[in-house]
Amino acid sequence: MKIRDILAEGKPTLSFEVFPPKTEDKFDSVEKAALEIAELNPAFMSVTYGAGGGTSDYTVDIASAIQAHGVTPLAHLTCVSSTREKVHSVLGKLKEHGIENVLALRGDIPKDGKVEHDYQYASQLIREIKESGDFCIGAACYPEGHVESANKSEDIQHLKEKVEAGCDFVTTQMFFDNNILYNYLYRIREKGITVPVIAGIMPVTNAAQIKRILSMSGTYMPTRFKAIVDRFGDNPSAMKQAGIAYATEQIIDLLANHVNGIHVYSMNKPDVAQQIQTSLSEILK
Ligand code: FAD
Repeated sequence: MKIRDILAEGKPTLSFEVFPPKTEDKFDSVEKAALEIAELNPAFMSVTYGAGGGTSDYTVDIASAIQAHGVTPLAHLTCVSSTREKVHSVLGKLKEHGIENVLALRGDIPKDGKVEHDYQYASQLIREIKESGDFCIGAACYPEGHVESANKSEDIQHLKEKVEAGCDFVTTQMFFDNNILYNYLYRIREKGITVPVIAGIMPVTNAAQIKRILSMSGTYMPTRFKAIVDRFGDNPSAMKQAGIAYATEQIIDLLANHVNGIHVYSMNKPDVAQQIQTSLSEILK
């Protein structure tokens, strides 16, 4: 099923994200985690894509396994380190497996700065996917602005280009303060961007994740969130419980404010996905 049709029903949706294995020996354990999450019967599940392209087959394979389990998959695809030929080969495989949804991304510029020359921005990829078949296309958006953008207005202008290129919905980068999203929604709607916006929520469940988030410049951590990390960061089980509770509260506030699309960065953790879904069982009805 196409995600745009799922969203068009206008009901709250809960979806989860998994990432593919980097090596073949990890394939079975990642597939097992993905299928355990699929058992929760989410609205859809996304599978990330290694920007270097090395794990691209695994993205398609995990997405296919999810689809065979009866859940709609969303396969990510990045372009900045890819040739046009590679992109079309992945699109061909997605078609072969009947996967209808693609999240079209530029990908991060590699540390050595070496990029292929076929694509510079996600909007180019979106245009090409649009011409390549009957896909439902999603894109990324950044309520706090993308790190490379000079300012939010410029970033919103580039988001508009992605929508004009043909994307059907956008999923946000993680954020820990819902007011940032509400303000962003106001700004993008004012600029005429009307596609559905799915809120990306990251349950922070361990100290390593916190370090990674802090190193991603731009992600604002509210005092309330910092206090949780300060108090429980060294206690893995307490941090996990508090992190899941914080994410759940964020989701409840979003749903209460009519942000109906919720995407949880569940990071191959079925127990995290399950706890969040259970806490929302009545709210999502
Ligand atoms: P773009 O939309 O191309 O934007 C990149 C930058 O260029 C922005 O600063 C934008 O403002 C600017 N820009 C755009 N168009 C123009 C233009 N015409 N002129 C000048 N500047 C322009 N990465 C992965 O490797 N794999 C994944 O699976 C993955 N999944 C993600 C899922 C989500 C929901 C999100 C939010 C991010 C994901 N990422 C993933 C990270 C993403 O690849 C990076 O954030 C990347 O740096 C930007 O990708 P983009 O598609 O947003 O790029």
